[in-house]
Amino acid sequence: MSNISIFPISPTTNWQCPECDGTGSIDEEICPVCFGATLIDSSAAAEWLINFMQSSGGPTLEIEELRKEAPDPLILAVCLGVCSAIKRT
Ligand SMILES: [Zn+2]
Repeated sequence: MSNISIFPISPTTNWQCPECDGTGSIDEEICPVCFGATLIDSSAAAEWLINFMQSSGGPTLEIEELRKEAPDPLILAVCLGVCSAIKRT
């Protein structure tokens, strides 16, 4: 028996900023999404995702769904990965 509890690192509060790709800056300016912190929380990540989907003409219905309820962290992770990959191309 051990009383040591391990706190899992929550994937929902530790997103690499998709805007600056975790560098904290864009074109030598402070990143407007994470403000140089390189990491953002899940609501900021979801917000970025929604804005990105809208600006790239994503499906309105899915965007509305994302807006209404906080997306599952796993789904959010996948979507963020895809969107930041699209953004870089
Ligand atoms: Zn950033």
